[in-house]
Amino acid sequence: MNVGIVGLPNVGKSTLFNAITKAGAESANYPFCTIEPNVGVVSVPDERLDVLEKMYNTKKKVYTAIEFYDIAGLVKGASKGEGLGNKFLANIREVTSIVHVVRCFNDPNVVHVDGSVDPIRDIETINLELIFSDLEVLDRRMDKTIRQVRSGDKRAKFEYEVMEKIKAHLENNKPIRTMELADEEAEFVKSLFMITAKPVLYVCNVSEDDITSGNLENEYVKKVQEYAAAENSGTVVMCAKLEEDLSTLEDEEKQEMLAEYGLKESGLDKLIKASYKLLGLISFLTAGVQEVRAWTIRKGTKAPQAAGKIHSDIERGFIRAEVVGYDDLVSCGSEAAAKEKGLFRLEGKDYIMKDGDVVEFRFNV
Ligand code: GDP
Repeated sequence: MNVGIVGLPNVGKSTLFNAITKAGAESANYPFCTIEPNVGVVSVPDERLDVLEKMYNTKKKVYTAIEFYDIAGLVKGASKGEGLGNKFLANIREVTSIVHVVRCFNDPNVVHVDGSVDPIRDIETINLELIFSDLEVLDRRMDKTIRQVRSGDKRAKFEYEVMEKIKAHLENNKPIRTMELADEEAEFVKSLFMITAKPVLYVCNVSEDDITSGNLENEYVKKVQEYAAAENSGTVVMCAKLEEDLSTLEDEEKQEMLAEYGLKESGLDKLIKASYKLLGLISFLTAGVQEVRAWTIRKGTKAPQAAGKIHSDIERGFIRAEVVGYDDLVSCGSEAAAKEKGLFRLEGKDYIMKDGDVVEFRFNV
């Protein structure tokens, strides 16, 4: 599960990526992540852990994390091999979702590659490169498939027809994510690793002045929000420069600085939460005296597979899950009180986990 950061040069990608790496998750908790220079791992903010920490009087609190990939090098003509061109496009094919940084700030000292600030033109420049790249991959695949169609392969015929449909859509300069697809078609499209089929979140990078004056939704931002809404994508407004400063601060100082700017939450935290949602992820929680912890699963995950996130032995020997909803637990004030009220449920192997379930798994060793 990871997010790729894209955007034209000079829009603030590196600044945002620096904020992400500086904010970085405590690496001790993620020993299995190979950290490469273009990968940033950040904790997913979760206020529920703070509450549970107090309730259980725990010493250790472990957030779940999300990975961001800095994908530099996308310029006009990338699909034809300009800049880092195809190498870049191969990287982006592997991410699960895309954060597209858009310049929404004026600053005469920062040159714009196309001479002026125009977020919609910028978005379309990038989107077009991605569409071209998808078309290229698609054409190659269609050439192969047509041979199977000719030999009478029924499945190939179905696949070819789906590809014809998405090709027509791409040729209208539209990303695949804006297409209505039947489940079976969508399943097949997933296997094609099309870039424009991935969910997108637009980050409107505004100036510090806009933040100070409370003008978060400047003219540029409004345009991006309209554009994003029309294709069912999300937006987050932030000032990457300010985020870079914030990310080096300890919690308390950070809160003070946010208050100075009249902000409740940092832009980075907003971005992380929105990305988590975009990826279709939820968290279940475990709580005890030793540690309180959030674990990431996909929406729709069943109890044994959720247990497998903790340890494969627990999935293998799964007997049942003892579950209480976070809100129920908190309203009772303690685990013992929640048990007394009968709010802990026993759930079996078909139970579909919910966000905020506080769980203890029973298993055979
Ligand atoms: P990248 O090419 O997209 O990675 O862009 P950078 O992060 O390197 O930023 C390009 C320039 O824009 C740098 O000089 C940054 O300091 C500046 N910049 C980035 N974010 C902001 C911002 O929020 N406000 C202003 N005024 N400048 C910014």
